[in-house]
Amino acid sequence: MATIKLRRERCKGCGLCIGVCPKESLRLGTRINRSGYTTMEVRDRESCTGCALCAEMCPDVAIMMVYK
Ligand code: SF4
Ligand code: SF4
Repeated sequence: MATIKLRRERCKGCGLCIGVCPKESLRLGTRINRSGYTTMEVRDRESCTGCALCAEMCPDVAIMMVYK
């Protein structure tokens, strides 16, 4: 089972990962990174299947897959 880890300083809050997630596990959060972007956050970690679509979609390589 894989989980995702956000590299927050790379995220620009573009929302591409949010739109592609089939489980609606992600959302735009409230935290702002050092570049001034409001960043993505995991809305519901339990629903994430580890499919990696979000990581593949992210143009800034801000999502890492963590395999246990
Ligand atoms: S696709 Fe990448 S840069 Fe865009 S919101 Fe998601 S994690 Fe952030
Ligand atoms: S790994 Fe798949 S299910 Fe999990 S947040 Fe990313 S797109 Fe959604």
